[in-house]
Amino acid sequence: MAANVDVAPRPGAETRLSRMIRIPTVSAELDERGPQPFEAFVALLEELYPLTHEHLERERITDFGLLFRWPGRNSSADPAVLMAHYDVVPVDPSDDWRFPAFEGRIEGGYVHGRGALDDKGPLLVVLEAVENLLAAGFAPARDVLLSFGGNEETFGAAARTISDTLHGRGIRPWIVLDEGGAVTDAPLPFVTGTAAMVGVGEKGIATVRLSARGEGGHASVPPELTAVGRVARAVNRLTPGTFRARAPRAIPRMLGLFAPRSRGIGRPLYRLLASWPWLNARAFAALGGEAAALVRTTIAPTRLAGGTANNVLPSEASATLNLRLALGETVEGAAQRLRRRIGDDAVSVEVLEGNDASPESPSDGPQFALIAAALSASHPEAVAVPYVTMAATDSRYFHRYAPATYRFAPLMMNAEQRATIHGVDERVEVSELARGELFHRRLIEGLPA
Ligand SMILES: [Zn+2]
Repeated sequence: MAANVDVAPRPGAETRLSRMIRIPTVSAELDERGPQPFEAFVALLEELYPLTHEHLERERITDFGLLFRWPGRNSSADPAVLMAHYDVVPVDPSDDWRFPAFEGRIEGGYVHGRGALDDKGPLLVVLEAVENLLAAGFAPARDVLLSFGGNEETFGAAARTISDTLHGRGIRPWIVLDEGGAVTDAPLPFVTGTAAMVGVGEKGIATVRLSARGEGGHASVPPELTAVGRVARAVNRLTPGTFRARAPRAIPRMLGLFAPRSRGIGRPLYRLLASWPWLNARAFAALGGEAAALVRTTIAPTRLAGGTANNVLPSEASATLNLRLALGETVEGAAQRLRRRIGDDAVSVEVLEGNDASPESPSDGPQFALIAAALSASHPEAVAVPYVTMAATDSRYFHRYAPATYRFAPLMMNAEQRATIHGVDERVEVSELARGELFHRRLIEGLPA
């Protein structure tokens, strides 16, 4: 790894984050609020990061995508892509926040407000690192691209279009790093200390509609199976075992890292599971909840519809399912499996929308090692552990041509703080902003030639 540059981080990161939070870039409220907040945010970045805007090329891709290119010493090498999004989810006016969600209050060692963790804090620490390195006269070994989207939370097109643009230019990123995991405490039962959970894959998603048609008619003489009955039976057949449990390669690796850091039964248990990968899928599936969701394609019926009157047979009934696809699963493959499981030709299975699950990025390659090395500077107490992200991130548009795609924000988020994401009292510790900046600085400095 190259020698680290002498950098005096610019003070005031918390004030800069506070100003970002004050701009309500709520993508779901674009119609009501208009594009002005998003334009104001782009202008704010120009003001807060002058060197970045002077030395990096900036392209605006769609109305909500920003792509920066920091030319490296060897621009023919595959670049690093650092991602974040600057839109936020809405604030429920009936929620009782300690400080107004868009005030950006700095108090008690925290910056409070919507977006502090998701994802303006993570965006800020990338820009802080770039700005500080530029001030020190540093140039990265290879190109560093910054990909910032303004409609991640509404599944908008910014990141997808940036990804398509880069792909069209023949660019194949050496590493992609987006949101997803974080530095957390107690990621599994029995585990002591903190761990940096680095997402090496993310589950896919599919919205599927089951529907059946009936004859209609009067409810006094019902047929053996009405449209409602058929749909209900189909939903009932989709038990948790519909999809076979399979453990990503990251799981035994994760357990092997956790075993020596566990107390009590955890130590032998995780060691055993780590050495018997085929057991993991079954053991996790049997645990249920989050552990099961890690190894299995899950099916959640979310809506039911049918009928027009209390005494009329429905001519159509439907159920909507929300599927989260385990690694390696495709939308089409999942739909096929549902059809087979339901085993009723009168029930149509229609995919409304979906994204395949990601492939698994290596946790034993130079990219993961670089993340771990940067972490040993920023969060020396935390071990870097590969895992699978449950939620979708913008990086899903990159993994098809960027095999080293990781989902991790270098900020400490304990369980209570993680619950504030998309919730109430979202906040980030001021000291974590310095650590996040250091992480990205070490990552950029450590890029190989
Ligand atoms: Zn986010």
